[in-house]
Amino acid sequence: GEPLLSVRNLSVTFPTQHGPVRAVDSLDFDVHRGRTLGIVGESGSGKSVTSMAVLGLHTGAQVTGSITLDEQELVGLTERELNRLRGRRMAMIFQDPLSSLHPYYTVGEQIAEHHRVHFRSGRAAARRRAVEMLAEVGIPEPQRRAGEYPHQFSGGMRQRVMIAMALACEPELLIADEPTTALDVTVQAQILELIARLQQDRGLAVVMITHDLGVVARVAHEVLVMYGGRAVEQAPVDTLFAAPAHPYTRGLLDSLPRLDDPDDAPLRAIPGSPPSLLTPAPGCAFAPRCSRAASAAASERLRCQTEPPVLSGPAGHASACHLPTYEGAPS
Ligand code: SF4
Ligand code: MG
Repeated sequence: GEPLLSVRNLSVTFPTQHGPVRAVDSLDFDVHRGRTLGIVGESGSGKSVTSMAVLGLHTGAQVTGSITLDEQELVGLTERELNRLRGRRMAMIFQDPLSSLHPYYTVGEQIAEHHRVHFRSGRAAARRRAVEMLAEVGIPEPQRRAGEYPHQFSGGMRQRVMIAMALACEPELLIADEPTTALDVTVQAQILELIARLQQDRGLAVVMITHDLGVVARVAHEVLVMYGGRAVEQAPVDTLFAAPAHPYTRGLLDSLPRLDDPDDAPLRAIPGSPPSLLTPAPGCAFAPRCSRAASAAASERLRCQTEPPVLSGPAGHASACHLPTYEGAPS
């Protein structure tokens, strides 16, 4: 079927005192109902800015291109129109639930209020819905816990509360920005399982934003890898893990802890730092950190340093690299 969310040629530019900064550059992607797109990259790669643009939360930025939700264009909508869509049709959860929960209201009141605003439901119905949602996200004794305040919940339980709130209005699109980064590994796995289950039960389209390919491996169907505001690789999750084409993706994979051999696998973080968005390099943004370019022939190295690679590749597997390694190709 048609994708629920469709993003075309999306660019987001922030004015700064040193000049315009293009945080997201010419991005294209689709998310279907019942599917999860993982957007992966380091901090500053543009992944969070992308999600904010989809939600229309890009104060001060210039957004160009097209973002359609169920074929409705979102770019250019008024704040009022966006407000109606946020919560009701699309919702977001963040790394830190405390920043979006009010400390002085019980979690039940907050979920109920959210529901009341979007559905104009009565107080009693909204309160019932809040308790139902707490139960659905696996909070024990939901009736009692609805009467507690955010600080009375553990980090993991608080993230469950946020998910309950996000889903209380039955959105079709859920955007999750590093929802498990602050949690320990066991709780992280539980929350990812919960998101995956809710997605299947509800046929949600999910955008999972993370710096961690381990999270992607658990929940994503498709993956978009971002570097310096651009897509550097796009592929189904199995393809991406089996045959990463871009050296940056390969670097992210190499820095994952190895489940089969946890002791013998030191984390190999990619050396170097993310590119400057203020003064972008003339060629490939990854060139200063790229070991593939470093060991390439001089003419190829020159091309990496002078000519920006364009996203291309075999059907369903795109990468932006002059020296990609597709399946069957030597690495
Ligand atoms: Fe490395 Fe060149 Fe590919 Fe950029 S284009 S990722 S520098 S090999
Ligand atoms: Mg972020």
